[in-house]
Amino acid sequence: MKKILITGALGQIGSELTCHMREIYGLEQVIATDIRKGANTAVESGPFEILDVTDAQAMYDMAKKHHVDTIIHLAALLSATAEAKPLLAWNLNMGGLVNALEVSKELGCQFFTPSSIGAFGPSTPKTKTPQNTIQRPTTMYGVNKVSGELLCDYYYQKFGVDTRGLRFPGLISYVTPPGGGTTDYAVEIYYQAIRQKAYTSYIDKGTYMDMMYMPDALQAIICLMEADPAYLKHRNAYNVSAMSIDPEAIATSIRKVIPDFELSYQVDPIRQSIAESWPDSLDCTIATEEWGFNPLYDLDRMTVEMLGKLSEKYSLVGTS
Ligand code: NAD
Repeated sequence: MKKILITGALGQIGSELTCHMREIYGLEQVIATDIRKGANTAVESGPFEILDVTDAQAMYDMAKKHHVDTIIHLAALLSATAEAKPLLAWNLNMGGLVNALEVSKELGCQFFTPSSIGAFGPSTPKTKTPQNTIQRPTTMYGVNKVSGELLCDYYYQKFGVDTRGLRFPGLISYVTPPGGGTTDYAVEIYYQAIRQKAYTSYIDKGTYMDMMYMPDALQAIICLMEADPAYLKHRNAYNVSAMSIDPEAIATSIRKVIPDFELSYQVDPIRQSIAESWPDSLDCTIATEEWGFNPLYDLDRMTVEMLGKLSEKYSLVGTS
């Protein structure tokens, strides 16, 4: 990876991945792009361009202008928003992806895009969900993610594009708020623990989903992209996860730091039914075997860091 173009770079993953990649590969080597511009370290720390991923010609011209050899495609509509606007989700998630794959094919770029635990459905085995298993999702987001995994396989097999991907679980971070996913509660709970010592969860007690702390997600992307292709048998969409948790598990972890933290429930039927259609816990052994996936944060370590960083953030805001 020498010159990297990131789409959807102002989102939850992109804003941190852009800065992380600039630290590794150099400030000028990472071109951050998004359909909007806003106050964000991805805009302020290096090259930034407005790019709508549904505009195929604009994406091609942008990649060519910057002599890009790697595309990290993040622009998408996430699960809860996609369920509210399914046609928009199809057009953005599939249209943007095929445009990014075409540019990669034309310019010989290495390619990364995330899939999701949303690529599984109610008929998938719920626990220790294998790498290769039944994928019949019941959400538009899931349909997009399965189709995307297959499309990336196709571009590798048919055109030799060096496509790589991860099935991300819910990602937890204190930097950029999440953008409309089903697992967003696992981020909000930390913000509310700091602000009010209380949180009302829209996901029900006992609903387990896979999660991972953002630094482990960033590290996984770099490891996979740097991996020797000779070892990659499952290029697109490796299962990755660091913990399988429900709201009670997070609350118990938070109470080790904030003992009087209170958790209550007001379940949102739409996001609850999406969560129930997803696995409880992924089997990630293939990712470990093929490219050394090794997350460092468990729930308690993540909780201590999330609460510490959010306290710093809010006490700084309060005194400025
Ligand atoms: P996000 O919603 O936070 O960010 C998406 C970004 O895409 C936004 O900055 C938005 O402005 C931009 N965008 C929207 N439409 C665009 C367009 N037409 N052209 C260009 N940019 C556009 O999303 P995220 O959480 O950073 O997720 C990135 C990818 O990772 C997505 O494919 C998502 O499905 C996947 N993923 C995320 C998670 C998670 O927990 N965050 C989990 C699994 C998979």
